[in-house]
Amino acid sequence: MPIDQRYDPDNVFARILRGEIPSDRAYEDAEFVAFRDIQPAAPTHIVLVPRGEPPTSAASLRDVDAAWLGRMVVVASRIATAEGLDGDGYRLVVNCGDAAGQTVGHFHLHILGGRALGPVA
Ligand code: 5GP
Repeated sequence: MPIDQRYDPDNVFARILRGEIPSDRAYEDAEFVAFRDIQPAAPTHIVLVPRGEPPTSAASLRDVDAAWLGRMVVVASRIATAEGLDGDGYRLVVNCGDAAGQTVGHFHLHILGGRALGPVA
C-alpha cells in the first residue's frame, strides 16, 4: 500500500482487534495483540499490533511514539521466547510502504522464526 497517514478504521487489523475477523491469538495485553499470520512466511509467523489507532506505518512515527514502540519491541521479545524462538534466533520485521510490501495500514511488527531465515533481503 502507498504510505498514507490517514488511518482507515476498517483495515483488516482493526477488524481483527474488534473481533469481526477471527484470529489465532498468541498473546494479548492492555496495549498489544499478537496473532498468527494467515499466510505464514516461516514456521512461526506472528503479527504484533498495538490496540487502538496507531500510526499507519513506520513513516508516520513521531517522538511521542517512542515509549509504546519500545514496549512493543520488549513484548515481541517475550513472545519470541514464549514461542521457543530465542535459542536458534528469530527476526523482527517492520514493512513500510510499497517498496517493502506493506499491505495493512496499521503499524505492526512481524515475528518470524522456526527456520534459518537467510539474508534479510
Ligand atoms: P504487511 O505486508 O502489511 O507488513 O503485513 C500484513 C500481514 O498481515 C501479511 O503477512 C498478511 O499475511 C497478514 N494478514 C492479512 N490479512 C490477515 C488476516 O485476515 N488474518 C491474519 N491472521 N493475517 C492477515
